[in-house]
Amino acid sequence: MSILLDKLNKQLALHENEIQLIDAESKVKLTGNEVRGAISLFRQQFINHKITQGDVVLIALGNTIWMTIIEQALWEIGAIAHPIAETTGVKEILGEFNDYRYSGAIISERLSRELGDQGILLEESFEIANDLVNFFSYTGKPLKHVATDAEKQLALILNTSGTTGKPKRVGITHEKILLATNAVTKSQNIQVTDHALIVMPMFHINAQIVSTVTSRINGCQVIVAPKFSASKFWSIVSEYQVTWLSVVPTIINILLKNEKSKDQYKKLKESVRLKYVRSASFSLPKQLLTDFEQRFNVRVQEGYGMTESTTVVSINPLDKPKIGSVGPVVDTDIAIYSDTYGVTYKANHHGEIILRGPRVLQQYLDPKENILIDGYFRTGDIGYFDEEGYLYVIGRIKEIINHGGEKVAPAKVESLISQFQFVTEVAVIGLPDELYGERVVAALHLDSSINYDYKIEEIKNKLSRELAKYEQPSEYLITGSFPRNQTGKVLRPQLIERLKGEKQHATIK
Ligand code: ATP
Ligand code: MG
Repeated sequence: MSILLDKLNKQLALHENEIQLIDAESKVKLTGNEVRGAISLFRQQFINHKITQGDVVLIALGNTIWMTIIEQALWEIGAIAHPIAETTGVKEILGEFNDYRYSGAIISERLSRELGDQGILLEESFEIANDLVNFFSYTGKPLKHVATDAEKQLALILNTSGTTGKPKRVGITHEKILLATNAVTKSQNIQVTDHALIVMPMFHINAQIVSTVTSRINGCQVIVAPKFSASKFWSIVSEYQVTWLSVVPTIINILLKNEKSKDQYKKLKESVRLKYVRSASFSLPKQLLTDFEQRFNVRVQEGYGMTESTTVVSINPLDKPKIGSVGPVVDTDIAIYSDTYGVTYKANHHGEIILRGPRVLQQYLDPKENILIDGYFRTGDIGYFDEEGYLYVIGRIKEIINHGGEKVAPAKVESLISQFQFVTEVAVIGLPDELYGERVVAALHLDSSINYDYKIEEIKNKLSRELAKYEQPSEYLITGSFPRNQTGKVLRPQLIERLKGEKQHATIK
């Protein structure tokens, strides 16, 4: 057994009679003993279904406490879990089966009803709590990933978020998960008394490793909500004495603006034990951070990481934060690369953020393309270090707008526009321009039926004071709510296509 599994089991034994996993929806609560028992049952089921070392099992379930139990059961026989969104289409799942030849799949009842007998076979339905999950197996020869060393055995295959294109497949070993949990424990100072709430999708790296496995390896309680709900948020936080959770900036924005949620907070605030919320995934506007800290008397910790680096590589320390930065390096070697000066660690050199270390990916399982430069993983993000080693993320290379040779970082402009209360969503994008190659356009989703012209003037005035001329949007397009992926990131290519096709939106030059 790997060190990771030993540590997880040790905590279950240490907390045999204490609640370790809670489902906020069904109210199921499991003690260490019960978690251990459930893992053993699932492990036996998998063995009965001939799952062995190196087999990959697809998991398509919504957020549930059973996810981590099923995963550990697979890990204990050297098998690999590949969680995907429960909302994935049936056609896509069948396509994946043929491409990647999974040995089996655990699929929600809802999704199973739509799956026919097309190369995969329904073997058994398991009842867990009040829910049914179905186990399917592949009828062909499965693809295996067998390692000789328990530490180097793949435990997870996770997809990247698919923000810039088709999601990429990242293989994660037991050793990498263990290293990542050490990094999170240290950088967030996780204590056994912590209660972590999960509102983000559990098939994503963040909820998988930062919230779930790190909490479990420290013997902390994990509370799983099916998804983020503004109207239930503060009551869950208060009821389960949640001490921290991971969110994306959109959630911070919603909690600040949603009136019902603010009222609920006022009623419950005496019983809230939340110490901090951890924000990552995309850039958090400074104003949102400070407003949130003040209004809810809770700290906000911004971190930076990705699927390929097995989560966090830098995080703002709570005792010495620099707002706007994603903090100093945690345990991974981070450098900056540019064609002009190559690889550097020097302060104030802007370029692509590159990473090296035992948690960092060398090659995707798919696509098999070169992702390294001088042995470092290319993140595709632009950033720089300041003199004290704090990292600043400017944005993704693919999203930087080239306006006649001047480079505009959308996040900087978006951060300023998002400060207006009436702006629900904002994305700054480049649209083709005959003269400049690209022009800077702000897409806005506004709160209510307000007087656009007047409000846009307010935004323009602010931006003209705070930005260079070339950074200021030359056009404002008003549209409906933005297309986002499951992790909450704006799907810019889709938004751009929609804006090009939309006739109805108001255009304000
Ligand atoms: P894909 O690689 O499929 O296009 P993705 O990059 O969104 O999707 P993830 O691995 O979930 O997939 O996200 C990692 C990326 O999220 C980082 O490379 C970076 O672009 C962005 N990111 C994470 N944290 C932050 C942050 N604090 N500020 C700005 N960007 C962030
Ligand atoms: Mg990426």
